[in-house]
This record gives sequence, structure tokens and C-alpha cells, in this order.
Amino acid sequence: MRKEDCLFCKIVAGEIPSTKVYEDERVLAFEDVSPQMPVHTLIVPKDHYDNIGDGVPDEELGYLFNTVRKVADIKGIAESGYRVIVNTNNDAQQSVHHLHVHVLGGAPMNSGDP
Ligand code: IMP
Repeated sequence: MRKEDCLFCKIVAGEIPSTKVYEDERVLAFEDVSPQMPVHTLIVPKDHYDNIGDGVPDEELGYLFNTVRKVADIKGIAESGYRVIVNTNNDAQQSVHHLHVHVLGGAPMNSGDP
């Protein structure tokens, strides 16, 4: 289900352009517009959930996290390593309120990295 005025719903619908990394009937992965690491890809479910606490079915969460592994393979960071982040609500400074997974990698991370 789509939510009006949601940035990532608009990206899923193709109304706002994105650099696509992977897509199937349930998820879309695209490059973060402001990358914090050499690899910084976002994965979103096509259905709208505000965040991980928004009644996301277990099966949907499993599918989303399985896509992390696909994206790591596509981006060539499966072996070198990567970080997975799901910012949730205000204290975590979630800025786009459509559930998304950050996949970060492509270089060794230090303590100041995301
Ligand atoms: P959050 O802070 O966890 O909510 O992450 C939102 C992410 O979305 C940030 O890393 C932004 O750089 C990214 N972002 C915002 N707008 C766009 C866009 O239009 N395309 C791709 N990424 C975006």
C-alpha cells in the first residue's frame, strides 16, 4: 500500500528517479543520494511502512533482509564486509519515514563512520 507524499513511495512508483541496484515485485534497492561510504545502497519494501515497528509482517522483514544479501553480492561487498542500519524514529534520526535498510561498505570502517 502506498502513502501519499512519501518520498520513497514516489521512488518506488518511478515518479522520482533513482539509480536502481535491484528490483523485484516486493522490494526496490537504489543508491543513496548522499553516500556515506563507497557503497551506500538503500533497500525499501514496495509497500509502505513508516518504520520497522509499523506492523511489518515477519515474512516481509525476512524478505527485506534476504535482499540485503543479494545487494551485497551485486555490489561486490559480500566477502569484504558491510554494515546494515535501520534507523527508527526520532532518537535514531530517521529522516525518511518509509522503512528502509542502509547497506554500507566498500572500505574499512572507523569509529566515526555511520
Ligand atoms: P534515514 O536518515 O535513515 O531516514 O535515511 C534516509 C536516507 O535517504 C539518507 O541517507 C538520505 O541521503 C537518503 N535519501 C534522501 N532522499 C533521497 C533520494 O531522493 N534518493 C536517494 N536517497 C535519498
